[in-house]
Amino acid sequence: MTREEYEEKISKWYVSRRHIVIIGAGASIASLPDGDYYGHKPSCMNDIIEDLGLKDILEKVNLKTKSHNIEDIYSELYERDDCATVREQVEQAIFDYYSKIRIPDKLTIYDLLVLSLRKKDVIVSFNWDSLLLQAYLRWEKEIKDLPQLLFLHGNVGLGVCDACHAPFPIGEFLPNDDKFYSNSCPNCHAQLRPLKLLYPVKHKDYNKDPFINAQWDYLQNIICNGAITTVFGYKAPASDVEAMEIIKKAFVKLGEESRQFDILEIIERPGFSLEELTESWWEIVDFTKHTPKLYHSFFESTLARFPRRTIEAAKIYNLDGHFAIPICQFKEEDLEKGAYELVHNKMGELLKKEMQNDYSVESK
Ligand SMILES: [Zn+2]
Repeated sequence: MTREEYEEKISKWYVSRRHIVIIGAGASIASLPDGDYYGHKPSCMNDIIEDLGLKDILEKVNLKTKSHNIEDIYSELYERDDCATVREQVEQAIFDYYSKIRIPDKLTIYDLLVLSLRKKDVIVSFNWDSLLLQAYLRWEKEIKDLPQLLFLHGNVGLGVCDACHAPFPIGEFLPNDDKFYSNSCPNCHAQLRPLKLLYPVKHKDYNKDPFINAQWDYLQNIICNGAITTVFGYKAPASDVEAMEIIKKAFVKLGEESRQFDILEIIERPGFSLEELTESWWEIVDFTKHTPKLYHSFFESTLARFPRRTIEAAKIYNLDGHFAIPICQFKEEDLEKGAYELVHNKMGELLKKEMQNDYSVESK
């Protein structure tokens, strides 16, 4: 193989790789600066007991844990036979709360996130709210080539048909313009089963739910193929220690040699510094041998700077040593645009090229 042939092969391999985006509660908060459709701001995990009125429910039992973290409390409820009723009430209250969060009519960062990636790319969500799914469903009819979505902690917007072993959108805010989005399976009409949201911390036994288990399996298979991994508003709390172990193992699989051009991006609220990253993330950072790129806004990340061409642009910079010239960039003011204007004017040229199978990015 000549040097040119080798370089060509590496280039082809690199652009075939995925962009993986891991989102947590911070992404939902960034997507709703003015609150949801009703003006409600989503609760953060630390305030969930207060905001959801769980105190009244929890007063019925004498908890041993002094923790105010809902996952710690849930673990105790799970282990104690005398707490079964309270546990069910907590589960229901959380499900009801997150089911009511509705995406605003205007564009959100979640819309731009969905539009910034293609089918080979994956958005991995740790969130219970269905905002990402709601954003996805309002674009899927217009744009066929959209990223895959994974929900590692369950989601209020998905129900599973146990007969067909398939998930379908459920919930009152999902577009209800045809029979597809009813709460029964569109194939066999069986009742869809809502996903379980809470798991005890010590044994996050995702294996118990075949759907959640399959989501984790898929992630483990693909995560080492992420040329860019973006972590958006996900802090990897101590209660997710098992999740981080799985992610770390998957990273290690590919080997250091192949990962030297990989990029780890972190999008966090303004004022966040890398020192605040949890230890779990530092282990992954140490392994990738790159200092992660920290952005304080979605609009600074490669997702907004090179929508739908993130890996192609990274190849130009990392492998060719040039600067990529974006065809279109998402800016904060795009959130004020209408859907038609965004897709047909702003993204028009980009999408037209895709119809001709052209994913090239110019460089200088
Ligand atoms: Zn079915």
